[in-house]
Amino acid sequence: MRLSDTVEEARFRAEVREFLQNELPAELRRKPSEILQGELSGGGIEARGRLEARAGGVGFQLLSGAPAEWRRKLTERGWVAPSWPKEYGGAGLTLVEQLILNEEFAEAGAPQMTGDMGISMVGPTLILYGSEEQRAEHLPKILRGEALWCQGFSEPGSGSDLASLQTRAVRDGDDFVINGQKIWTSNAQNANWMFMLARTDSEAPKHRGITYFLLDFSSPGITVQPLVQMSGAAGFNQVFFDNVRVPAKNVVGEVNRGWYVGTTTLDFERSGIGSAVGVRKTVESLIRWAKEHAESDQSTTARNPLVRYELVDRYIEATVARMLSYRIVDMQSRGMIPNAEASIAKLFSTELTQRIARTAMKMVGLYGLAWDRESSYSPSRAEYSRGYVNSVGQTIAGGTSEIQRNIIAQRGLGMPRD
Ligand SMILES: Cc1cc2nc3c(=O)[nH]c(=O)nc-3n(C[C@H](O)[C@H](O)[C@H](O)COP(=O)(O)OP(=O)(O)OC[C@H]3O[C@@H](n4cnc5c(N)ncnc54)[C@H](O)[C@@H]3O)c2cc1C
Repeated sequence: MRLSDTVEEARFRAEVREFLQNELPAELRRKPSEILQGELSGGGIEARGRLEARAGGVGFQLLSGAPAEWRRKLTERGWVAPSWPKEYGGAGLTLVEQLILNEEFAEAGAPQMTGDMGISMVGPTLILYGSEEQRAEHLPKILRGEALWCQGFSEPGSGSDLASLQTRAVRDGDDFVINGQKIWTSNAQNANWMFMLARTDSEAPKHRGITYFLLDFSSPGITVQPLVQMSGAAGFNQVFFDNVRVPAKNVVGEVNRGWYVGTTTLDFERSGIGSAVGVRKTVESLIRWAKEHAESDQSTTARNPLVRYELVDRYIEATVARMLSYRIVDMQSRGMIPNAEASIAKLFSTELTQRIARTAMKMVGLYGLAWDRESSYSPSRAEYSRGYVNSVGQTIAGGTSEIQRNIIAQRGLGMPRD
């Protein structure tokens, strides 16, 4: 695996850095104190968690919430959708260039570009499987930030075993009629479109009777109910469908072949290129806080050497996480398909985010109980306590740790299924 930039890659890195130095408005730059919670709730790793962070009102910046002027500057270079081909308004960057771009954006504290489900999940899926009409309708709206998408995959009885989903879509003339329920739908309260899976053939084997739909979220019959998390935020929802009509032209790919389209979307969701820099920045921000508050009662680092050792461990682990993500990019750019390797990276980085959250809590001791951002008893505006609570979902979203371990055991180590 090559760890240093080639001459062209170094030139591209310098170009991105210079662009950020000259063009990134100061008010969009994340402050060190804002880094922790955004990352711990998934901002850097997983597309879903960051929506929750926004719903919780933290300072985590998303491209879709960024000012139009910043978006315009990125659009000029195709950097709103760096991975999309140029013909669709993207930058057509190689995987290594995408990694460099994301690393430099994370380094500068710029708004995350990977966090938008339209750009990172449904757009690339439509480029691969969508009809010309679907691409023409949706891709420009995604690029302009006008379409806010949510993902309707999980159901009360179908998460890890997604192919068992029960929401039904029945053909009726030019439409399909949808009935059923989705759950854990991040950001459904703000979305105007949903990409979803529904069962269109209940007789067929479970993977073969599923269809992928694009659903206009203003259609009659959709009810969105918020689910309040232990952090007090309501970034998830239950979504109910009562005879919701969706035109047949909104099927992506073929009817009953949606499982294969859906797994492509999940692959895009899980690729998480460049997130490891965000994790390192989080650990660096903890170390900075520990130094600045060495004399403060709110820090345990002076009294408890174990916390200092833990901070060192977290820093080393953040470097390991970076190597694991480099491995994925390296494999992909050589035409290989990471399998158990992607699970290793996902498992390690999400468990690491939780360890970082625990270390932060140990660093502030009992003051970690404070929740009020404005209170003088709250270290770092309660970022650590809030980040700790928000980090829990990391090892569930995008495939639980148990599922990743199964994949590593079976496909990586060749161990038997039972
Ligand atoms: C932050 C966050 C955001 C999310 N956003 C969305 C979203 O926007 N859209 C969406 O569709 N979904 C979303 N989800 C749902 C997520 O995809 C599911 O929670 C996840 O796939 C797990 O499914 P489940 O909750 O049904 O748990 P289950 O699959 O019921 O699992 C329960 C427990 O059993 C274990 N388990 C299950 N099967 C096995 C097995 N074969 N071997 C060993 N252990 C097993 C699991 O690891 C887990 O501990 C989100 C979840 C989180 C936490």
